[in-house]
Amino acid sequence: MKTAYPITEHKYDMIVVGAGGAGLRATFGLAQKGLQTACITKVFPTRSHTVAAQGGISAALGNMGEDDWRFHFYDTIKGSDWLGDQDAIEYMCKEAIPAIIELEHQGVPFSRTEDGKIYQRPFGGMTTHYGQGTAQRTCAAADRTGHAILHTLYQQSLKHDARFMIEYFALDLIMDEQGACRGVLALDMAEGTLHLFRAQGVVLATGGYGRAYFSATSAHTCTGDGGGMALRAGLGLQDMEFVQFHPTGIYGAGCLITEGVRGEGGILRNSNGERFMERYAPNAKDLASRDVVSRSMTIEIREGRGVGEHKDHIHLDLTHLDPKDIHEKLPGIAESARIFAGVDVETQPIPVIPTVHYNMGGIPTNYHGEVVQLKNGNPDAVVPGLYAIGEAACVSVHGANRLGSNSLLDLVVFGRAVANRCAETIKPGQSHGKLAADACDRSLANLDKLRNANGGTPTAVIRDKMQRTMQADAAVFRTGETLSDGVRKIREIHASFADVKVSDRSMVWNSDLIETFELQNLLGQALATIVSAENRTESRGAHAREDFPDRDDQQWQKHTLCRVDDAGKTSIDYRPVHMVTLTDEVDVVPPKPRVY
Ligand SMILES: Cc1cc2nc3c(=O)[nH]c(=O)nc-3n(C[C@H](O)[C@H](O)[C@H](O)COP(=O)(O)OP(=O)(O)OC[C@H]3O[C@@H](n4cnc5c(N)ncnc54)[C@H](O)[C@@H]3O)c2cc1C
Repeated sequence: MKTAYPITEHKYDMIVVGAGGAGLRATFGLAQKGLQTACITKVFPTRSHTVAAQGGISAALGNMGEDDWRFHFYDTIKGSDWLGDQDAIEYMCKEAIPAIIELEHQGVPFSRTEDGKIYQRPFGGMTTHYGQGTAQRTCAAADRTGHAILHTLYQQSLKHDARFMIEYFALDLIMDEQGACRGVLALDMAEGTLHLFRAQGVVLATGGYGRAYFSATSAHTCTGDGGGMALRAGLGLQDMEFVQFHPTGIYGAGCLITEGVRGEGGILRNSNGERFMERYAPNAKDLASRDVVSRSMTIEIREGRGVGEHKDHIHLDLTHLDPKDIHEKLPGIAESARIFAGVDVETQPIPVIPTVHYNMGGIPTNYHGEVVQLKNGNPDAVVPGLYAIGEAACVSVHGANRLGSNSLLDLVVFGRAVANRCAETIKPGQSHGKLAADACDRSLANLDKLRNANGGTPTAVIRDKMQRTMQADAAVFRTGETLSDGVRKIREIHASFADVKVSDRSMVWNSDLIETFELQNLLGQALATIVSAENRTESRGAHAREDFPDRDDQQWQKHTLCRVDDAGKTSIDYRPVHMVTLTDEVDVVPPKPRVY
C-alpha cells in the first residue's frame, strides 16, 4: 500500500503484548531462557490493572491449617461449574505451590504468620476435604498483593534484560496466508510513529474487557485489545457469556472492596440488619463463590430488602472486627471506603453492590498458553506463533465462574508455562521468513480510516450507549427477552461505529484516536458476549438465565466459540470441555449439583 505511514521494522525472537502480571511473568521467563524478547505496553508496566489486585493469590501451601493441591483442584472445578478444563486446572493447582515459593524468593513482600511463614486468608469457594472445611489458601501482602507482585515481576524483567516498548499501542496481529502469527503492528503514542515487530511468536497478555460495561472494578485501560485483535484476525473467542460480577463494588464509585474483607470476618447485611447469606449458603455463608453471593444480593434488593434511600444496595459490615486487624490486614480498604463511600469502617458499614469484575471468557488456549481453534474438526488445533495468557486468555481454568485469588495465580503459572513452551520450541536467533508486502495493509487502512473519521457520533457517545446496554441487558440475571433486546441494541451500536467522529487528526499523543481503537475492540467483544449469552439456554456459573434456571450438562457442558467479523456478523461453534487429567494423582471430577 502506498502510504503516508512509514514503518520501522524490528526483529525479536518473541514479542509479549502487555506488561501486567501475566505479560511480565512471560517476558522475564522468555528473556531468562535466552530468547530475545520485547514487551509492548500501552501503559507503564507498573500501572497495569494487576497493580490494583487486593485480596491475594491462592496456593495450597497449608501454612495456616491443613491443605492439599487436590482440594484446590476440586474447588476450582466446582467453582467453574464444570466448564473448566480439568487438565489445565490440575496443572495450575499443582504448579501453584512452586509458583508462590518462586515469587517469595524473587522478593514479593508477603504478609507473615507469627512463625514467619507466608500469611494465608480464607476466600470464597476455597475448602478442605472436598467441600467439608474452610481452607486458608489465599496468600496475601496485606491488601496490596497485586501491587507487590507486579513490582517484583517488573524488577525481574529488568534484571533479565528484557526490552520494553512503553506507551506503544498494539494495533493488530500480523498473520500470514497460512494463518500463522508473524508479528504485531504498533503505534508509538508519544512519537506518533508506526513499528512492525516481527517475531517467531506473539504472546497476548492484554488483560480483560471490563470496560464494555458501565460499572466495573477494572481500570479504564481494560478494553480487551488482545481479544479485539484476535477477532480481526478471524479467530473465535471462547465462553464470552461468562462475566463475573464481584459482590462488593463500592455503591456508586464501582471501586473494589476485596473478598478478603469477608475472609477476615466481614458480613453482608440487608435493610433488616440480617446476615442473609445464611439462608442462601448455609455452610459457606458470606464466603460462597462470587456468582452465588452476587445473585443472593440481587434477590435481596429485588425483594425490597436493599439499603439506602432507593433500597438499591447492601451493607458490608466490618464494625465487629478488631480495629488493629483492619489496620494491619486491610489498610487500603479502610482508605477506599473513606474516600469513595465516605464511611469509617470501624463504626459504619460500607455500601456495596455487585459490580463487573472479571472476564472468564477470552482467547482460547491449551495449558501451554498456545492459542487453539476449531479447525477441520479438530477442536484443539494450535494457531502457529500465537499465545495468550492472563485475563485475555481462556485456558480454561475458571470455566463459568472464577474463584477469588485464582487469577493472580493463573497469571504467574501460565506466564511461566508459555516461556517454558517457547524455550522448547523456538531457537534463539532463528531467521524471520519473508512477509507479504501487503501484510500490514488492512491494519493501516483501519488506522487511516479511524484517524480521519468524520461521522456524526463522537467515540464517547457510542461507548456510553454500549456500556449502558451491556449493564442493563447482560446483567447478573438474564432472560431471553432482555438478551434478545440487548443483542438487537448492541448490533445497532456496533453498526453505528461506521458513523464515529474523531476530532483530533494528529499522530502524536492522539488520545481521541486511541480511545476509538479501544472502543472498536470493546464493541466486538460486547457483541460476542451478548450473542453467546443469548445462545446458551441454561444457567451455569456466572450465566444465570431466569428462563432456563437449571444447568443442562447434556446439552451445554461445552465451550462456546464466537467469531465476529468486521461488519458485525457473528457465528458460533463449540469445543468440548477437557474431562481428562494429566496424571493419576487426581481423578476427573464428574458434574454434580453445586451447593455451598
Ligand atoms: C480491582 C481488582 C482487584 C483484583 N483483585 C484480585 C485478587 O486479589 N486476586 C486475584 O487473583 N485476582 C484479582 N483480580 C483479577 C486480576 O487482578 C486480573 O485478572 C489480572 O491482574 C489481569 O492481569 P493481566 O496480566 O492479564 O492484565 P493487566 O494487568 O490488565 O495488564 C494488561 C496489560 O496489557 C497492556 N495492553 C493492553 N492493551 C494493549 C495494547 N493495545 N497495546 C499495548 N499494550 C496493551 C497494558 O498496558 C497492560 O500492561 C482483581 C481485579 C481487579 C480489577
